[in-house]
Amino acid sequence: MSTFKAPKGTYDLIPPDSATYLAVREAIAAPLRNSGYGYIETPGFENVELFARGVGESTDIVTKEMYAFETKGGDRLALRPEGTASVLRAALEANLHKAGNLPVKLWYSGSYYRYERPQKGRYRHFSQVGAEAIGAEDPALDAELIILADQAYRSLGLRNFRILLNSLGDKECRPVYRAALQDFLRGLDLDEDTLRRSEINPLRVLDDKRDAVQKQLVGAPLLRDYLCDGCKTYHEEVRELITAAGVSFEDDPKLVRGLDYYTRTTFEFVHDGLGSQSAVGGGGRYDGLSEMIGGPALPSVGWALGVDRTVLALEAEGVELALPASTSVFAVPLGEEARRVLFAKVTELRKVGIAADFSFGGKGLKGAMKNANRSGARYTLVAGERDLAEGVVQLKDMESGEQVAIGVNEVVAELESRLG
Ligand code: ATP
Ligand code: MG
Repeated sequence: MSTFKAPKGTYDLIPPDSATYLAVREAIAAPLRNSGYGYIETPGFENVELFARGVGESTDIVTKEMYAFETKGGDRLALRPEGTASVLRAALEANLHKAGNLPVKLWYSGSYYRYERPQKGRYRHFSQVGAEAIGAEDPALDAELIILADQAYRSLGLRNFRILLNSLGDKECRPVYRAALQDFLRGLDLDEDTLRRSEINPLRVLDDKRDAVQKQLVGAPLLRDYLCDGCKTYHEEVRELITAAGVSFEDDPKLVRGLDYYTRTTFEFVHDGLGSQSAVGGGGRYDGLSEMIGGPALPSVGWALGVDRTVLALEAEGVELALPASTSVFAVPLGEEARRVLFAKVTELRKVGIAADFSFGGKGLKGAMKNANRSGARYTLVAGERDLAEGVVQLKDMESGEQVAIGVNEVVAELESRLG
């Protein structure tokens, strides 16, 4: 061990577990790629003001969790705590919304940073795959995103997750509800912090995780009773479309989520095997965000799924992903001439797309076969002086133990046909 350890709240992804992470990212991205979403990558840090405005001044993310710092040049930056604000900023900066092809559909994958109290499923550096559909107000788009996330989780073999769904209303009906909720909250016996929060952003009080607070909230006015006709119709259509797609969900009238910029459709994916860090992903519509960061009106919807928690959910369900062996063929040379010949074969195999590896470091047969076993390779190629003198190498099937001599020039074709 070196003098240093990974910083608090972080962990390293190392083989073999790292293969599962890659596969999870891939599985979440696949349905997006297949549905017209283009890949976008933005910087790991942004102007701090983007998040203050785009995530919301009163959110935990901005007030407590952001890694904000001043550069040597005097710029005020922050490590990105989430993806949506950056992606929208980048889309506006590149004028993607003016190319005349709305919605602009984008997906991303990367690291995010929040200064949180580390615990299982809650880290200071974590990983998300996300999707944003920018510039269209269409219930089919909200439905599409929910269906694609459901498809991603199912393709991984996850079953014990639930989709919680709500509507947060819009700028017409939400203020009326907000006032009603505020009236209700003022009548409760709440601590100072919560009272302050109920003045700035009363909806977020509904999200309070404490039992004592939740008890007082029984009987609070619910948004669904205040939705305007436009929001009601919109939400009903979202519900119909995902139901027709065979995706089940639960109406959760108290679901608000942490961010300030959500409007109308809001949803969360929770997994019941994860204890208190149960949210594996979430998202919703954010019709007001573009204007909040200085852009034109661009109604949009998106989600972000947590890769770390999705991996924990797989563990909780005991799902083992069927990962292909990373190496199919392992070459074991005995002697200098064999090193030269087999190294060339390995290079040829790789060129035709067969995953191959080589016994490096001039090991003896025993040590080299141990490496071959560990590699998980289905076949080994072994060659010594006598084999080469006869123009052959030994091809061993590691599953059956069967071994045959193959002409040096037939090796690649033989393995291609065996590995199909
Ligand atoms: P929570 O309520 O658990 O704090 P959140 O509402 O802050 O979650 P989002 O901002 O919606 O989470 O991020 C989307 C997803 O990213 C979450 O559902 C979760 O899977 C993941 N995520 C968020 N914060 C963390 C973290 N600190 N460590 C690991 N994963 C995280
Ligand atoms: Mg959080």
